[in-house]
Amino acid sequence: MSHHIVEVKNLRHTYPDGTAALRDVSFRITHGESVAVIGANGAGKSTLLLHLNGYLSPSAGEIRIGDVLLSKGTLPTVRRSVGMVFQDPDDQLFMPTVYDDVAFGPLNLGLEGKELERCVTGALERVEAGHLAGKAPYHLSGGEKRRVAIATVLSMSPDILVMDEPTNGLDPHARRQLIKLLTDFDHTRIFTSHDLDMVLELCPRTIVLKEGEIRADGATLDIFRDEALLAECRLEKPLSMLGCPICGRNSS
Ligand code: ADP
Repeated sequence: MSHHIVEVKNLRHTYPDGTAALRDVSFRITHGESVAVIGANGAGKSTLLLHLNGYLSPSAGEIRIGDVLLSKGTLPTVRRSVGMVFQDPDDQLFMPTVYDDVAFGPLNLGLEGKELERCVTGALERVEAGHLAGKAPYHLSGGEKRRVAIATVLSMSPDILVMDEPTNGLDPHARRQLIKLLTDFDHTRIFTSHDLDMVLELCPRTIVLKEGEIRADGATLDIFRDEALLAECRLEKPLSMLGCPICGRNSS
């Protein structure tokens, strides 16, 4: 199962305009872990995630997915393992219909006929979007687009699921359903989120980024109990850990 391991060593990324978005980031995520990457706006979360399947290249440092060192030559292998759901679903959907979008990846892997159909309808059903199969992606609501973008990744059966702000724009039902889907996904999960209640529910481990560096990496509950750390990193406790405003009882 070593192909489910993500190892990042001394990763730095400087954008062409000179912004040092990642300054020296190292961590190791092992098979089956569910890890949140949190931090204020601009902390470097998206930049970090975009490195995990090679959408951005490191300015320095290295990334290994299992035994494979990420490089131009290993990109197809890595992308086969790491499924990436972008922050903006419009970056993921480009075909005339939802069905075609979800079929795109499996088709490229050589699936066809009934097998392809099963794969596409299965992925759409997992996100409760089967009824959208014939629609044009640009006619979907924001939440529907997000669910379809997730289906395009699930249809590839990734070993490692990487998601940037997965609950953005979802209504409470769709959010709850996504949390269930992520709970049921028994491989490695890594995602960024400002939805700290979801992080608390889904991720035993959290990495806190601050100005392109790891400020903390540890048990999610310990991190959310550390008020000084949260304030320093411009974060707030999840609502579920705040005291009850009526009876005053503290829930954390
Ligand atoms: P986060 O996801 O935590 O909000 P980002 O990774 O998007 O943070 O951004 C980290 C830093 O890199 C920010 O200062 C941001 O302005 C900068 N940045 C992001 N994308 C670019 C880009 N394409 N060119 C220059 N700077 C960028």
